[in-house]
Amino acid sequence: MADPTTNFARTIRKEAARLGFSAIGFSSPIPQPIAIERYNTMIAEHRHGEMTYMEHRLDERAMPSMLLPDLKTIISAAISYNNPVDTIAGQPVISKYALIDDYHTVVREKLQQLLDYLKALLGEDLNATITVDSSPVLEKTWAEHSGIGKTGKNTLLIIPSAGTYVFLGELLIDKQITDNKPPLPNLCGSCTNCLDSCPTGALIEPGKLDATRCISYLTVELKREFTPEESAMIGNHLFGCDQCQQVCPHNHQTTITPNNSFTLHHNLLNITPETILTLTKSTFRTLLQGTPINRTGLKRLKRNARAVTINLKKT
Ligand code: SF4
Ligand code: SF4
Repeated sequence: MADPTTNFARTIRKEAARLGFSAIGFSSPIPQPIAIERYNTMIAEHRHGEMTYMEHRLDERAMPSMLLPDLKTIISAAISYNNPVDTIAGQPVISKYALIDDYHTVVREKLQQLLDYLKALLGEDLNATITVDSSPVLEKTWAEHSGIGKTGKNTLLIIPSAGTYVFLGELLIDKQITDNKPPLPNLCGSCTNCLDSCPTGALIEPGKLDATRCISYLTVELKREFTPEESAMIGNHLFGCDQCQQVCPHNHQTTITPNNSFTLHHNLLNITPETILTLTKSTFRTLLQGTPINRTGLKRLKRNARAVTINLKKT
């Protein structure tokens, strides 16, 4: 006789697809010692740079049940945001994810809709927590464990048929839902495109990132001014870097349609460093409101623009 909780998984997956998720999977919150060891090694080697928040709440990362009493199931949800905008050699670059609506808001809204559906299906007494980059959760580990994707050599989760341009979010719930989906095998094979094309050597070995050399970290996460070396490293990147995704074959053979909730902010497509340097607080807000760049702020965006201006003059 079929496990009724497996039927729930099928029903929930259907609703998630209707809401525009590219994939969802279900995991029991069992200990993940290998992932925790890998995480702790990254911190010990200072590969997280100045993202000191990553050094905290390690217990919750190891034990997600600390985030929700009586946690039974972690639902991993992925949503594709791929868009046809590609970088043009020698032109200032803004990462694809920053050209659209802030994923924190969009993914959270969609997970809330999924949660409302779950409550109707499983009962109003369901307790749940939604996380979208907001809690210490090993999101790639749980997504792998649920069988929806596999982390590639570029350290990003590859979702078959959707690629790596995906946002992740989780629903932690206190009801058990089983799915019996086995983890996926390695999806990279002998490919090394991402390692070969990273402009700064930030991928120090397959699946191992040194954030202190990564343009995404430097232009988005780093709060202080650049050192001369960091300033040169960002090249023509105004915000973020997609290089190790652009060359990934999994992004060239996608069949899952990207979610259309992510409105493309066309006014950012041809923005120049010169324009950024003239922005005031008020014009910055008007131009960037609703995008992830708004979170990073004008000060850091101008820092990036100054470095890109110098770097472009050298080419
Ligand atoms: S985002 Fe850019 S700098 Fe960072 S690892 Fe990928 S290619 Fe390298
Ligand atoms: S570019 Fe190649 S090696 Fe890198 S993540 Fe994609 S498939 Fe894996």
